[in-house]
Formats: sequence, structure tokens, C-alpha cells
Amino acid sequence: MDNCDLEKLTISAGKLQPAFSPQVTDYKVTVESSVDKVTLGLSTSDCGASYSILTGDRSSTVTLKEGINRVEIEVVSEDGTVKKYSVDITKLSAKVAELSDLSLEGDIPLNPAFAAKVHEYSSFVSFYCNLVTVQTKVPDSLIKVAVNGQSDSQTVSLHFGDTLVEISVCSADGSVTQVYTVCVTRELIPVAVTFSEGKHQVEYECPVSLSALYRAVSVHQSDPKSIFSRPYIEMLARRSKVDPFTGSVLGEGWKVSELDVDKTMSAAPVHCFFRYRGCDSVMQLSELGLHALDCPHKPTGELDAKDVIESRWYKEYFATSAGLEIETKHVCTVRNWEKKLQMTQEENTVDNLCALAEEHLKLHREHLPKPGERLRSENVDALLHRLDEAAALYASAIALSPKNAKVHFLLGLVLEEHHNTTQVYGSPKKADKDKEDISEAKSSAHQDDILAVCKLHGFHGMPSVENQLQALDKEYHQLKDQGQFSKSDYVQTLYLWLSKHAAKDRNIVMQDEESHMYRSLLKYLDAWSLSPDSWEFSLHIGRLLLLQGRSKEALQHVQTGLALRPLDPALRFFTGLALLQQEQKACEATEKEAALFLHQGLEHFVSQRCSASQEDQDPFDPLSSLNPQFLRGLLTLGQLQQKAMLSEKSMTPEQVYHIVAALAARSVSQFVCHSEASRQLEWVLLDAHFALLQRLIQQGEQQAQAVVDMQALVAKRCQALTALIRLTTISPCQELLDMQERTCQLAVVTSPRDSRALCHLGVAQLAQYDSNPNSDRSNEVLSDARLSFQASIELEDKPQSGDPPEPLGKQKWWQQHLEVKNKKAAAQASPQPTQAPLCKTVPIRDAKLGRGGPIQGRAPGSRPPPVAPAAPVRGGKVLQPPARIPPVKGRPGAAIKPDTAAKPGSDDTKAKLPASKPEQDSGPETVETAEVENTASASGPLNPRSHVSRLGLARAFSRSADTQDQAKHFYREVIAMAPGIHEAYIELVKLVEPSDPEGALDVYCGFPLKDVAEQSFDDAFITGEIVRLLMSQQLFDHPQLGPSLVAYGKVMGLSVIEKYIDILDEKSKTSLLKSVYAKINNRQEDDPDLQDFFRFKCWI
Ligand SMILES: [Zn+2]
Repeated sequence: MDNCDLEKLTISAGKLQPAFSPQVTDYKVTVESSVDKVTLGLSTSDCGASYSILTGDRSSTVTLKEGINRVEIEVVSEDGTVKKYSVDITKLSAKVAELSDLSLEGDIPLNPAFAAKVHEYSSFVSFYCNLVTVQTKVPDSLIKVAVNGQSDSQTVSLHFGDTLVEISVCSADGSVTQVYTVCVTRELIPVAVTFSEGKHQVEYECPVSLSALYRAVSVHQSDPKSIFSRPYIEMLARRSKVDPFTGSVLGEGWKVSELDVDKTMSAAPVHCFFRYRGCDSVMQLSELGLHALDCPHKPTGELDAKDVIESRWYKEYFATSAGLEIETKHVCTVRNWEKKLQMTQEENTVDNLCALAEEHLKLHREHLPKPGERLRSENVDALLHRLDEAAALYASAIALSPKNAKVHFLLGLVLEEHHNTTQVYGSPKKADKDKEDISEAKSSAHQDDILAVCKLHGFHGMPSVENQLQALDKEYHQLKDQGQFSKSDYVQTLYLWLSKHAAKDRNIVMQDEESHMYRSLLKYLDAWSLSPDSWEFSLHIGRLLLLQGRSKEALQHVQTGLALRPLDPALRFFTGLALLQQEQKACEATEKEAALFLHQGLEHFVSQRCSASQEDQDPFDPLSSLNPQFLRGLLTLGQLQQKAMLSEKSMTPEQVYHIVAALAARSVSQFVCHSEASRQLEWVLLDAHFALLQRLIQQGEQQAQAVVDMQALVAKRCQALTALIRLTTISPCQELLDMQERTCQLAVVTSPRDSRALCHLGVAQLAQYDSNPNSDRSNEVLSDARLSFQASIELEDKPQSGDPPEPLGKQKWWQQHLEVKNKKAAAQASPQPTQAPLCKTVPIRDAKLGRGGPIQGRAPGSRPPPVAPAAPVRGGKVLQPPARIPPVKGRPGAAIKPDTAAKPGSDDTKAKLPASKPEQDSGPETVETAEVENTASASGPLNPRSHVSRLGLARAFSRSADTQDQAKHFYREVIAMAPGIHEAYIELVKLVEPSDPEGALDVYCGFPLKDVAEQSFDDAFITGEIVRLLMSQQLFDHPQLGPSLVAYGKVMGLSVIEKYIDILDEKSKTSLLKSVYAKINNRQEDDPDLQDFFRFKCWI
């Protein structure tokens, strides 16, 4: 009777939202632009009821206009009860060009999530994913969609790095088109890429990773183009906003995507990474990822127990007797820091606590940045917080059950993960940061004082830590001899501070009893002392003891672990490493065993990473590319392989070094902050580069036919390594200087008439001099530096091919190089029945002194305290230390066209990595090189003119008293060529001022200052100097005084000129003062406020 429901409500087009139900009265529906009419199908529940349409022409067929069309239906029941239904019908405009949904098949997420009005997306896929299928939905079937220009296929094959997918959407009436883009980025393949054609290797090799360019970008307006892998150039640009090759400043929009490079490179043929295991496949680079996933030659990970069981040490200690006696003395006690970690958890059980801790760890791992993401600093606290929670829970579990070895061990793991997280993502909470800031300030004050002392003793620039210590020591003794005890005490304080700070910085954590790493070792040892038969405890103790330099004990632990679990690849790897790090030099059999274990560790790592489940891996697995100890171990493997330790199915040394370079480059770029671990990884990267450069040169000697590409590649790699050294965050030290010098020498040998290479060499030589001006070699390097710069200048505007420049011939290292070359030629001329091996083996770097290692070894390998090179501060900006190569304008990597063949090498050719201990005062070794005979041919590109070599030459002359005039001359040339270079003016004035203060003033007055509003701190340094000189010469009426005071005060703040104001006030220079004040305040002198102020000052 009173039933006024509709039983049915249908519509001839579109779909009701929500679906019809008699109780729901309001509906919406959207129909396509082509629909002009819809018909509603209606019936009532009760046959006695009736309905009527209240809107339009009251018919159930509704004529639609564009936009919303409202239809209201009234149902009246038998007893007169009334109910209203409504339907809002939206007719789409024919001009809509939008998608209603966009996705990639396979639930690949888009970033940001889809919204019709958002047109740009990015997406990240795995390295083996080589195509994506775009899925689109349109609101109107007449809307046309095309993917990358194809309307019939929505599948896009992916390049090696970035692929831009364009989805163009055309409206129903064809009048409007909009484009959606998805940039699909493939994850970087976890192996090093080898192109099968030499020219591709030259063209597509990333200067940082020495593997294929990944997501190529070029530096805007670089010529020839500087092309890098995106993550690495971004990393370098964060360190210094310059083009790594030319040193020119990167302006806005410096990054240019080279999608075309990515595209053409993706089609280039490459070898399978597992070629050494017999895979002959050659495929397009874009297919390499998928192939690596399924390559039949990929190591299966099945290891043979007999590698271990048949080893000498196993037979001796484990086959018959109870095992190896471990020297480590350790007692498990409760330490104070552990007590502090414990929470009151009376009612809980160990199991519950561990379960809770695991949850925190799981959350922690889930929140680590995914590939392609960067972690925001506020999230670091959250990451660390979860680890702190987990640590507290385990510590509490230990309190409940102190004999439970496993919980001790788990606490150790969490502490280590805490350390690793801090190393990669940055330091913890803000409170601690403030503390750090204070100590940083103190540090930099100390460092300034130390550098001042260094200068007194002839160490300029940024001397190495050893030299700093040496200078302090000299100063200390001098002061003591002079009876200046309070001063000598202070110098001693500085000495202690520096040595402690340097040591701590160097290796850090394993000696620092408060560090998480040190504590984690204690926990592993606690666990072991409670339960000595766990391979897991042995593994972790062993590798941390190696870091601590306790290599004998370390070996005992890992061997014991390996005897328990002979198939574990990590135990094998660290056993291999420990075998090589013993005090006595390893015999050949041991080296072979070590090489095998290291190789197996590497293969395990690679096949794990080349699997589909690699995303789930523990980021801090001991065999992780973020672990410097692992990568440094791989470098050792490369060195062993140079002796061809493993012949069958093993990687060549080049392949090992290449993968080390590729992994290290990637890891360094993942580090959000500069930490000890990131610097160690940088060292690994530099060492891998350097080893590859040496190998390349030897290789070229053997493969004369590939010489053209080889020469270009040598030039390219020298350029790359020089740039990396220049932009490293490792602080200057002897080893780095040696590497820089040798690399530059190699570049010069490869291309002796490239003025830029000569200039770089000069810079490297001058840096050697500056680092230790009192060494036996100092006269030689200083004179060589001058000769290099002179040669560089001499060759300007001349072709890059032809005879080596004359000043080069005067350098000792060059003469030695020629001598070796001639000997080789002579040896070749006479028949040699038994040719000595071309590649002689390399002395293995005393592995335990490696940089992955603790306090020993590389003394200055780590950064001295303050972050900035503490050169004299001016204008609040820190000067670059002279050890860095100054910006070079001009043509980077100018094509090198060798016109000769390489000669075979001699048996004394060594690929020698730099010594692990800085050998002070030792001369560089003769450079072994690919030979280039420069038969004169006046072709090839011309060398550009550059002020940089003149600046270098001026500096080199300024270093000795008898060449000051030459130095002045070249500084003036620099100023004439490049009037905006502040350094030239400042350094020239330093030379001129003592004898000619007025001349010094003239120098500064010649600086082309910009408008005050545009002046930088560097400019203010110049105006400040002008003021200082004028005031000290009492030239109060000099026309430059007013403007300089104004500019200086404006840029640096009024307080910097206060003392001058006081002097001028005393001298009653009131009209000058008034105008200065007015100009600094941007007012007229008759401004009423200023007039009050002047009256107050009694200036009127
Ligand atoms: Zn293969």
C-alpha cells in the first residue's frame, strides 16, 4: 500500500553509480561524448504505485546536453506516499583528452600514483626487465591513445638505463591532444659490462664506473661532450659544482639527459659476464640483464667441500684432531653500556623480546631506501630508532638469559647494522649533531693553528697528516729550545690532538671502545665464549678481527668456522682474505687457495645479485658491495689473478677490477654522507681505476692491432682518474699525490703534446712539492712542474700530434721512460728465443695494511679533521688547496690520434698499485707505458690557449726566492688573459706588497669589480684588501677608499669596517664617512634618519 520503491532503474548507456538498489535514491552516470540520448528503464515494486519523470520533457528518453543532466523520478504509492529518485547524467565533452587510468602491467608502481591531471610519471624496474606494457583506460571510447607513436601496441622495449614512454591522448573530436610520460628506469645491472667492439668501449664507457654508461647525462655546453652516468655525475656535482673534466662551473640546467646515447648504446653488442665460464653469447646491451638472469653458465653456487677438506691446514688441524687452538682470550661479562641498554621487562620472556626485536628489524629493513630512492634526512632518525629499540630488546633478553649465546650474537648484529646505517645514511639525532658542531668548530680552530705552524716550516697548501705532525714536532722542539714552554705545551696539545684525531678518523671504529662496531665484536665474542662451535659466530668475529688488525686470531676463527661449514661462501671469502693477511708472506699454494676462496666469494655475490630475488637481500651481508672490506678483498683477488693463480674458468684480472670499479662507483653514490666507509670505497674505486689503467697499457703492448682504440681509451681513463682524484673526498696524502702524478705522467706519455695533460701534470708535480718542500725530490718536482707548465704554454695553438715538446725532454722521469723504451726496442731488434713473460706479477699489497684495515697502514689515507681544506680563510670562503687541479678551460679529452703502434712490453713492466705505506721522498717510478712515437705530422686538433697553465707556472715560480720576478710576470699574464680570477690578484699581491705596497694597491685596483649588488664574497675579499692597503698607507683621500668601503661593508656586513670607521672618525674624515653610511644603507645623505645619526656621531 505504502510501497513507493522502484523495482528497476536501468539506463541505456553508461553505468549507474552506485549500482541500483531500491533503497538508494541518488545516482550518477557518465556517458561518452557521442551519446545524444539515453533511455531509462523503470518499473515500480508495487503494481499499484506509479512513477513520473519530473525533469526535461518528462519522457523516459532523455536528450543530453554536454555536462550534467539531472533527471528526477517521483514514485507515488497506492496510499499517496511519495519518494524521489535522481540520476545525474554527465555527458563528456568531445574535447576531453584525458586518461581515466594509466598503469604498467605487472603491478609496477608509478610515481606519483596516477591522477588524470598529472602528466609526468617515473617508474623503476629490475635490471632484467626489458619490456613494459602500458595499460590505459579512457573515459570515452572515441578518445585515441598511442604509446610512443604506436596506436596498436602498448608494449615498449626498454633501454639499458632510462626509457621515456610517451602516451599521447587525443580527444573524441580530434581537436585536443595531451601527452602523458612515464620515465622507466631500469635498475643498474650488478655486473661490469664488456662491449664486444673496442670502439664501443671507448664511446660508451662511463668515466666513473668504467662500465657501460648508465642513464647517460652530459654537461651542458661541454665540448667535446662530457658524458657520465647520472648517479655518478650527481654524486660528483654534490662535492663540487664543476664539470669534472674541465673544471668549469656548472650553471643552472647543466644536466642534459642523453636518452639517445642510452638508446644507441642499448643496441651495441656486449659479451656475457660469464664468458670466462664458457658462455659465448653476444647480445645487445639491453638484453644483457635478462640473459644474466638465466645464463646457463652462471655459477650455481654449488661448492665442493674438498676445496676445504683437502687444504693443508684442514688436514693438519681438523681432519684428525679436535681442531685449531684459538688464541683469543675473552671473558663474557656484563658491561655498563649494556646495562644502560636494558629495559625493565620483568614479565617478559626471551622469546617475546626477540620476537619484538625482530619486528623492529623488519620495519627497519622495509624503510631502507629502495633502489632509485634517496633517503630523506629526517628518516635517518627513524631508521636508527628502530635499531636502538631492537638493541634494547636484545640487551634485555640477555639480562633474562645471560647464558644464551644466540641473543648475545643478535645484539652484536644489530649494533653492527647500526654502525653501517650511520655510515651510509648519516649521523644520528640532532642533539648529537649539535655536539659535533661544537667539536667541529674546535677542530677547525686547531687545524688552522696547525696549518700556520706548517707554513712556518715550509709546508704549503694542505700538507699530509705526516707532514703536519712533522712540522708540529719541529716547532715543538724549537720552542722548547728557546725556552717558550707555554707555547711548546700548546703545540704539544696540537700534536696529540692531531695524532689522536687522525688515528680515530683513520680507522675509526674498531679501536674506539665506544663505537658500535667495537661493541658488536665484543658481543660476537661473548656469544662465542658461551658456544664455541658456531660457524656464524666465527665468521663475524673473524672478519671484525681482520679489521682490527688481529689477523692471526682472525684466521683461527674463520678456519674453525669453515671446518664446521665448508660450503659457506662468506667463510671461504674471509678465510681467503685472512690467509693473505698473515705476517709471513703467503706461499704460492696459500695464495692459490686464497685466490680460489676469494673468487668463490665473488661468484657467489654475482650470482646472487643476478637473480630475481636479489631485492630481498640483506643490505649488510658481509659479502655486500657496501662493505669496503669485501671490495678491497676483491682488489686483492685481481692482484692474485695477475699472477694467473686460477686458470680454469676464472675471471681475468681486468674483469675483477672492472667489477670492483663498477660496484665501488655504485656504492659510493649510494652513500648519503661522507663517512669513513665511503672514503674507503673511494679508495677502492681509485685503486681499481689505477690497476685497470696499468693493465690496459700492458695489454696494449701485447695487442698492437687494437692500438687506436687503446690509445683513446688510455687517454680517456687518465682523464677520468685525474678527475676522480681531483674531486675525491679523501684528504691529500702521499699515496694520492703519487697516484695523481703517475696518472698524469701516463696521460702525457700517451699524448705528449696535449697541453691540458701537461698542465695537469704540472699541477700534480707542484702538489708533490707543496706537500713536502723539504724532501730530496723537492727541487726536481718543482723544476719539473715549471717545465710541464712551460711545455703546456708552448704548445698552445699548435697541433696535438708531432714531436714531444722540448721542456718535457728535460724531465728526469721522461728521460727514464725513454730509456726503458729504447731498451725495449733494442731487445726487440735482437732475437730473443725465450721471451720473458710480458706481465710480470705484482707484489701483493700487504693486504692487512689495506684500507679496509684498521689503524695500521695508510697513515694519511683519511681525512684530517675539518671537512674543508683549512687554507687561509678569506671572505668566509675556503680556498682550494693547491693540491687540487685548478679549473681548466678548454677542450677536455681532446681526441688523441695516435699515429704509431705500441711496442711489446718488457719483463720489468709492472702494474704496480701504489704502495700501501706512503713512501716519503721516494721518487716516482719510471712510468711504464704504451709507447707512442710521435712522428711529426702537423695534423690533429689544436691545443687551446688557457690561463690555467700560466697560473700554475706563476705558482711554481713563486715557490723559490730567486724566481719571484718570473712569478709576477706570469700572474700578470693570467690577469691579462682572465681578468676575473681572484687567486691571481691575491697571490700576486702577496709577492708584490712587501717591497712595493703601492704596486700591490694598483694590482687590486685593476680587478674588474661588478656592481656592488652582484659582488660575491670573493669580490669582497678584494675590496677588503684595497681598504686594508689604503688605510695602512694612510691614503684616506684616495678615490677608491669610499667605494671599496661601501662594497666591502655591504657584502660582509658593517662590523668588518668598524675599525676603519673609527680611524677615519679620528682623522675627521666626516664627509667620506657620511657618504659611506648613506650608500651602505641605500639612502640619501639628507635622509632625516641619517641626519639624526650623523648628528649623534658629531659628523655635522
Ligand atoms: Zn651467458
